[in-house]
Amino acid sequence: MIKDNLIAVKNNIETACKKRQPDMTEKIKLIAVTKNHTVEEIQQAIDADAQFIGENRIQEAMEKYPALNRNVEWHLIGHLQTNKVKQAVKIFDFIESVDSIKVAEAINKEANKINKVQNILVQVNLVKEQSKNGIYLEDLPSLLQDIDTLSSIKLCGLMFIAPNVDDLEEVRPMFKKMYKLFREVQQMHFTAAEIKYLSMGMTHDYQIAIEEGANVVRVGTAIFGPRQY
Ligand SMILES: *Cc1c(COP(=O)(O)O)cnc(C)c1O
Repeated sequence: MIKDNLIAVKNNIETACKKRQPDMTEKIKLIAVTKNHTVEEIQQAIDADAQFIGENRIQEAMEKYPALNRNVEWHLIGHLQTNKVKQAVKIFDFIESVDSIKVAEAINKEANKINKVQNILVQVNLVKEQSKNGIYLEDLPSLLQDIDTLSSIKLCGLMFIAPNVDDLEEVRPMFKKMYKLFREVQQMHFTAAEIKYLSMGMTHDYQIAIEEGANVVRVGTAIFGPRQY
């Protein structure tokens, strides 16, 4: 079943890609979001060729990680507190949820200790939702410049979580805005950063996100079914 779901999602991604502008044909990273799902379910997804795994909580990832084949790329997509940075840097290939210089500096310090260069994305809070993390637009350029100076971090792009709305078309203009921002950030002058990824879109809106320029989508429910909390 997980395998069938994965195939269906990949087909939808392909369809969405065809609706994009001709200059947007690069490959899409499909992150299988495994929070609240078991090691067995994750293994099924990996066996069905899921190559990117997304987890929200460090504790949960630490419990599952040792049991799984390491041959996948792990993405932290949930909020990161400074006291969990050490573990996060140990496990994750990408930390998508960086939204402050404080967390970035903590990541830099821990990555440096283990001779790692930690890939990160910066999470943007585009519409200033109180309930969400992420950096506000006006503070983004200076945060990116500051992060670019940290030698054990590689800044690779932006991440965005769209608000929950009834009419999905309401999120389309936000995705458009994020893509425009992504292109602007790509024009900024950096020393080490390479702005390659725009991570946006979840089960209910990943097709729209791709149509508007996402090249990383984070999909849980459509692959694994509803989560039991
Ligand atoms: C849970 C989660 C997802 C996946 O959500 P689904 O609706 O199950 O696809 C994606 N991104 C983040 C940040 C999440 O927390």
